[in-house]
Amino acid sequence: MGSTVSFLLLLFLSTINHISSESIIKLPSDNDISGGNRKVRADDNVVCDSWRLAAETNNAGAWNGVPARCVKFVAEYLTGERYRSDSEVIGKLASEFAKRVRLEGEGRDAWVFDIDETLLSNLPYYQDNGFGSVTFNETSFDDWVNVAEAPALAASLSLYKELQELGFKIFLLTGRSEHQRNATEANLLFAGYSNWERLILRGSSDQGKSATLYKSEKRAELVEEGYTIHGSSGDQWSDLWGYAVASRSFKLPNPMYYIP
Ligand SMILES: [Mg+2]
Repeated sequence: MGSTVSFLLLLFLSTINHISSESIIKLPSDNDISGGNRKVRADDNVVCDSWRLAAETNNAGAWNGVPARCVKFVAEYLTGERYRSDSEVIGKLASEFAKRVRLEGEGRDAWVFDIDETLLSNLPYYQDNGFGSVTFNETSFDDWVNVAEAPALAASLSLYKELQELGFKIFLLTGRSEHQRNATEANLLFAGYSNWERLILRGSSDQGKSATLYKSEKRAELVEEGYTIHGSSGDQWSDLWGYAVASRSFKLPNPMYYIP
């Protein structure tokens, strides 16, 4: 009799355990994100939008390449209304902040811009190169840089001009190398940018450093020179964090690649 009760109790408990484990909300696994279990197209849009948010907020940490199932989503995001709209909203928030800044005057009020995917859009290049889904090819990208015809990101161009009118000194801090100075200047002018205070590129002693370290060092030099860095705009977290950071940082979208 006692053993029958024990058996029934065990059966009851195992059923409860089964029910409770089934009712746990299931989060998507890596396999789901990278192209495995869910196959419906509409599902891709939901999952890939969540992936994009995780990448932009840096919850994804260092990521390498757009997940295969999200390439179409990323292409549509970048070439459709959303990318432009997201950039415009961020530009507007940056502008509202800039107008509230109490400038110190004497030409010491600085704003730091990154270049690629911040001031200039390399979308024409990435459109021909898989929107971040294929391994980065330095040679073909350098060829593209030398053409010097990347268009401006419209929202950044309008913020840039507004900051100059407000009295900010504009510093351009890019991961591009010194040997690309001429092409970079030519491209910036082509895209409508002018009168920047300084264009800072990676010199020989900067090669091999992470973007976070290199950019922090360069910002620290500006601070040592007496500049106050009120704002900073970039499409990578490595443009914005580290040390000697701006009072406010504005992260532009970039679901194509991650630079540490
Ligand atoms: Mg960039």
